[in-house]
Amino acid sequence: MRAQEVTSILERIYRLLSSLRGGTLVPTGVVLSPESHAKIVSELSEIFEAENISRIQLEHHLALAVSIRSENTDVVIVKELVPNPCPVCHHRLTFLRELIERFENDDANLIRCPMGHRYPGQLKMYYLNIFQQDEGNEIKKSVTACPECGSKNIQYLGPAEMFCLDCDWDSGMAPRYRRI
Ligand SMILES: [Zn+2]
Ligand SMILES: [Zn+2]
Repeated sequence: MRAQEVTSILERIYRLLSSLRGGTLVPTGVVLSPESHAKIVSELSEIFEAENISRIQLEHHLALAVSIRSENTDVVIVKELVPNPCPVCHHRLTFLRELIERFENDDANLIRCPMGHRYPGQLKMYYLNIFQQDEGNEIKKSVTACPECGSKNIQYLGPAEMFCLDCDWDSGMAPRYRRI
């Protein structure tokens, strides 16, 4: 029974990560409670038939930085550069992970598009709850099309929190701006 619970946490993370694929949000880390961390480690130990899975191994497996804390926990940290696409040539940004890293390490607050334009932008950070999509607790989707661009690619973060994957629209969420 215990193994099943564990699988489900890993699967939730996989599912969340795959739902982000191809979008503008880049997962960069996961924050786990000590309990969730213990469950994931024991599940991975079973999969790899290893005694102790270190945090480094877990990070390699998920390709995410893993931190453990007891508050505001069990979330995947995602980051996004806005605006995207480029306001000059309307090309979508590519190599988002590298762009985000460069943006974080540079105080200029400039984004460089694939065509070489440099424009002022922001880095937004969101926390996506791993347990958000519990069965029986499904989010009722009140908005199915973006009021800004009409896209149906709406990402829900909670019952009243959502944003468009194709443009800059969101439901007035409080994004966390952070400079490292
Ligand atoms: Zn451009
Ligand atoms: Zn939109």
